[in-house]
Amino acid sequence: MLKFGTLLIMSDHESSPVPTHILIVGAGFGGLAAARALSRAGHKEATITLVSEKPHFEYYPALYRVVTGTSPLQVCIPISDVLHGTSVEFVVDKIATIDPSQRMLRGTSGSMYVYDELILALGSETTYLNIPGLEKFSFGFKSITEALRLKRHLHELFVACTGVRERDTKKKLLHFVVVGGGSSGVELAGELAVYAKKLAKEHDFVTIDATKTVDDIQENIREKVKEVLGKPRASAKIKDGAETKEEPKK
Ligand SMILES: Cc1cc2nc3c(=O)[nH]c(=O)nc-3n(C[C@H](O)[C@H](O)[C@H](O)COP(=O)(O)OP(=O)(O)OC[C@H]3O[C@@H](n4cnc5c(N)ncnc54)[C@H](O)[C@@H]3O)c2cc1C
Repeated sequence: MLKFGTLLIMSDHESSPVPTHILIVGAGFGGLAAARALSRAGHKEATITLVSEKPHFEYYPALYRVVTGTSPLQVCIPISDVLHGTSVEFVVDKIATIDPSQRMLRGTSGSMYVYDELILALGSETTYLNIPGLEKFSFGFKSITEALRLKRHLHELFVACTGVRERDTKKKLLHFVVVGGGSSGVELAGELAVYAKKLAKEHDFVTIDATKTVDDIQENIREKVKEVLGKPRASAKIKDGAETKEEPKK
């Protein structure tokens, strides 16, 4: 058995010089790289089969954009495109069991797959580091499905806040916490800051900052500004504290 990073290559006949059938499970970064590299190596005696549960490759580094409105199609690449020009046979199936003694796998479709060499590149699961409540109350975005679920949740929060006028309640309902300050966490936090403003506009929100400004401005125009900000789909600009201008949203 050999380990290459996250790839696991299982073989019980390592003395055999040429593998006849290489089976790769998981068409993510690892599985696809292995399939393409093995195909390029071009052993004529070997056949390569790649089995994965989805017909497309999900480009994880851009998933945070799906949370904030980008079409999922933009992070999906058909696996047939990635494997174009290679000798790799691709099968969509989810592997349910592995029997190393028979060198055989079974898919949820009922199909059986035999191998001489097996590469498992199944990815990883999110760890919550035993932080109480984190798994139960947080939203991940490790797949398009999860990213869309988080996006829907954000929209639902804004819908739930429509009509809420109390600043503290609104602040509490729309307080987002990103756990994990790696590249994905930082990218999502940055995108959220922009996306939340967009959602606020879409849901006819008067922003908290504007409400705060109202208390600070001159008394003679305060009521007028409050009136303008209170209207749906309206915004107000104040120039030098002396002028009020209504700008209906286009
Ligand atoms: C949001 C996010 C952002 C990231 N950003 C970066 C980045 O910017 N740079 C970087 O270097 N890394 C990044 N990573 C990490 C990188 O994506 C992973 O290291 C990489 O995907 C691991 O590759 P893998 O082949 O092991 O697994 P994966 O790419 O997860 O592929 C596993 C594949 O196996 C399939 N599969 C799983 N179980 C089965 C089964 N039973 N039967 C059939 N198929 C199955 C899955 O559907 C999937 O297609 C990011 C990860 C995430 C989640």
